[in-house]
Amino acid sequence: MMVEVTGVTKRYNAQVWALRGIDLGIAAGERVAIVGPSGSGKSTLLHLIGTLDRPTSGRVSVAGHDTTRMSDRGLSALRATRVGFVFQQFHLDPGASALGNVADGLLYAGRPPVERRERAREALRRVGLGHRLGHRPHQLSGGERQRVAIARAVLGDPPLLLADEPTGNLDSASGAEVLALLGDLHAAGTTVVLITHDAEIAGWCPRRVHMRDGAVVADERAVHERDVRPRGAER
Ligand code: ADP
Repeated sequence: MMVEVTGVTKRYNAQVWALRGIDLGIAAGERVAIVGPSGSGKSTLLHLIGTLDRPTSGRVSVAGHDTTRMSDRGLSALRATRVGFVFQQFHLDPGASALGNVADGLLYAGRPPVERRERAREALRRVGLGHRLGHRPHQLSGGERQRVAIARAVLGDPPLLLADEPTGNLDSASGAEVLALLGDLHAAGTTVVLITHDAEIAGWCPRRVHMRDGAVVADERAVHERDVRPRGAER
C-alpha cells in the first residue's frame, strides 16, 4: 500500500469537522481521482495524505510509514523523499527562472548548487521544457508554468504525486498536456492522486473516490486499462 488512511477525522474548530472518519487505501501504482462538491473535505484529505497536516484522530501511513508516530522533522524528510505536490495555483517564485524554481525544490536543499541545477535541468527536460530554462514564470504560458511545477514536484522521483486541481487554471489544450504528462509519470510507476471538479479528468482515472460532508460516499473502480508496474512502496 502506498497510502493507508484509517479512521481519520479532522476538526478545524468547534463548528467544522472537515473529515468525519475516513478509511481509504491506495495501492502503489494507482491513479485515483478524489471528487465531490466544494467543502466536502477533498483538500483536507489530500493535505493529510501529503503529511502537510495531522489528523485530529486516526492514522495515515505513507509508503509504509505510520505518520502519526513521526516527529515534524521525520515528516519533512518523508515528504521530501516520497511525495510530490502540484497545486492549481502553481506556486512558483515569480522572480526566479524555471531552472531556479525547480532547483530550489525541497529535496536537494542540502546538496551543492551545481548538482541541484543539473537535476533541475534533467527534470525540466523530462517535462518538455529543456528550451525554457531561463524563462521566468510570467514569460511562460499557464501550461508551461504547471509543467515547471510538475518538474519541481518530481525532482527527486517521488513514488507518490498529489495534485489539487492541477488543470483548474488552464485552458483545455494546456490541461490536456498536463494530464498527458501526469499519465507518463503514472505509466513510469508513480502513484497519482488528484482532486478534480472535471468529470472528464475524473474519468481519466480508473478509480474515483467520491466525498461528501467529510466522508467517502462511493469508491468507484473501472477495470484497469493498463498494467503498470508499481514502484516505490519499498523505498
Ligand atoms: P474541498 O477541498 O472539498 O473544497 P476542504 O477540505 O477545503 O474541502 O474543506 C472542508 C471543510 O473544512 C470546509 O467546510 C472548509 O470550510 C473547512 N476548512 C478547510 N480548511 C480550513 C481551515 N484551515 N480552517 C477552518 N476550516 C477549514
